[in-house]
Amino acid sequence: MINDFNYLKPGTLKEALAMYAEHDDCKVICGGQSLLIIMRQGMIAPEYLLDIKHVDELNYIKFDKKGGLKIGATTTHHAVEKSDVVKANYPALVAMENKLASIQVRNWGTICGNLAHADPAGDPAPVLIALKANIKVGSAKGERTMALDEFFVDYFETALQKGELVLEIQVPVPQPKTGTAYQKFNLLESDMGIVGVAASITLNGNKKCKEAKIVLGNAGPIPKRSKRAEEFLAGKALNDDVFTEAGKIASEECEPVADIHASEEYRKHLISVLTKRILKKAYEEARG
Ligand SMILES: Cc1cc2nc3c(=O)[nH]c(=O)nc-3n(C[C@H](O)[C@H](O)[C@H](O)COP(=O)(O)OP(=O)(O)OC[C@H]3O[C@@H](n4cnc5c(N)ncnc54)[C@H](O)[C@@H]3O)c2cc1C
Repeated sequence: MINDFNYLKPGTLKEALAMYAEHDDCKVICGGQSLLIIMRQGMIAPEYLLDIKHVDELNYIKFDKKGGLKIGATTTHHAVEKSDVVKANYPALVAMENKLASIQVRNWGTICGNLAHADPAGDPAPVLIALKANIKVGSAKGERTMALDEFFVDYFETALQKGELVLEIQVPVPQPKTGTAYQKFNLLESDMGIVGVAASITLNGNKKCKEAKIVLGNAGPIPKRSKRAEEFLAGKALNDDVFTEAGKIASEECEPVADIHASEEYRKHLISVLTKRILKKAYEEARG
């Protein structure tokens, strides 16, 4: 059962920020695909719900060759999945969205809501961090932008301050000869991953790694970069043995916890296998 709450429905961003500043014990709702579950479970019972779903000025996907991709806060997963510019320039994002939840959830839930929820098993964060995304947040006092890497603080906790909304995801144009890939391991189709791995590789020439990003999902409290594995790959000629070793390093570096779905050891094993697999996929994509 959901406790009673007061419903706030701003029509513009300015109104939304003013309402959010004005009301204590207020939770933002957009698609409600994560929030309503925890409200129904009685885990939270806010006095106010600020519904930003109808703030149309935050519903956009923009792209240009200089500034890259910008996704507004009320843009649904489905809009990202179906966007031609996303398909053409960030295929890994589309592949990730295709496997996120069901079409019903994607039709209503938002990619920014997913990030704000900060579930360590969330699919978008690892891919977006591998793509070097930034996140723009703002309150009635002003706006700030940070690397998405710095947005996650702990389990279900972000760097958002009181009165701040997520406003936009910003993804730069990938460097030439870059490939990005993501895979989660899940027992049920369209469910959260037991673990997930995103990787991005930029090549120097045809074989040598100029730069690598490896981001592990559900392998610790927040989406975690495997910096040791990234350093290991930089400058190396890439092949299966190198990917295997990078997978081993990533599995040593992650800090998964056991739950009803999998033990810590099994998660570490999966991280090692998926990292190898996904690095190879990113490499092949980078080679074109
Ligand atoms: C059946 C089911 C299956 C799912 N499977 C997956 C899956 O496979 N992979 C996956 O990653 N996710 C999955 N999810 C979760 C879901 O994708 C997202 O978490 C959801 O889309 C969040 O977006 P929303 O707009 O619904 O957010 P809401 O539920 O409205 O909000 C979520 C949280 O974010 C906050 N919030 C929302 N928007 C903002 C904003 N602009 N600024 C500040 N705070 C904000 C809210 O206050 C709340 O704390 C699943 C959900 C369901 C119900």
